[in-house]
Amino acid sequence: GPGLKVISTLSVGFDHLALDEIKKRGIRVGYTPDVLTDATAELSVALLLSVCRRLPEAAEQVKSGGWTTWKPLWMCGYGLSDSTVGIIGLGRIGQAVARRLKPFGVRRFLYTGSGPKPESAAEFGAEFVPLTRLAEESDFVVVTCALTPATQGMCNKDFFSRMKKTSVFVNTSRGAVVNQEDLYDALASGQIAAAGLDVTTPEPLPTDHPLLSLKNCVILPHIGSATYATRSTMAVLAAKNLLAGLRGEPMPHELKL
Ligand code: NDP
Repeated sequence: GPGLKVISTLSVGFDHLALDEIKKRGIRVGYTPDVLTDATAELSVALLLSVCRRLPEAAEQVKSGGWTTWKPLWMCGYGLSDSTVGIIGLGRIGQAVARRLKPFGVRRFLYTGSGPKPESAAEFGAEFVPLTRLAEESDFVVVTCALTPATQGMCNKDFFSRMKKTSVFVNTSRGAVVNQEDLYDALASGQIAAAGLDVTTPEPLPTDHPLLSLKNCVILPHIGSATYATRSTMAVLAAKNLLAGLRGEPMPHELKL
């Protein structure tokens, strides 16, 4: 409305806000960075492991009676030992993902973004590479960047066609970073091994969406930060941001526009 003075979003992402209009009207915006980093990184790792070791598919086999005699190659997947992991967007969540994946025996970390970040990368010995090289060399690609005009549709046909047939793709950033038609083609044709998505376009994803028909695609309903403790901390921070904004005081976390 015309009287709107303050927006407090219960998220670190702000791609859902009309920033030009907000700036023009001098509206202040509070958001919730940092407090959701651990929970979102943890969910990213959980999703990656679920996808690469095929947990939902395997659990379904137990229920459906598909579990019969032991077979050497049944329900095999891909492990992290000795692998190369590519992180798209080595920000707060990207670094927290790398920190959690490293003890699994990852051999090499690659990352991409608007430029090299030697201080963030040092902990993992991560190498800054162009997006094309990240696609070509990674066994696991994890997308943790912000959604911006530059990242919209970044994971497209060209990107997936460069990935290895044995590679796994995970997106916990925003659905629109991925071209979903291109992802569907890559998964259905075996161009890539599997994918895990916590975010989609649209949300909720229609239950008859083609991606949901694929065995090698695991889709979660945007639950990255959904732990009781994290959502509670986010709520308190969002309330403090809002009250500070309404009082004309500095917010604990104000988005610099
Ligand atoms: P940060 O701002 O710390 O990190 C964002 C990263 O995006 C930066 O490292 C930035 O890299 C990178 N980036 C920007 N432009 C590009 C580009 N063109 N190519 C590759 N990388 C790019 O944010 P957070 O880590 O806190 O959060 C990241 C995103 O995760 C949020 O914007 C949100 O959309 C999503 N999220 C999803 C959740 C979920 O429930 N699934 C929960 C929380 C967040 P550089 O600095 O080099 O530009």
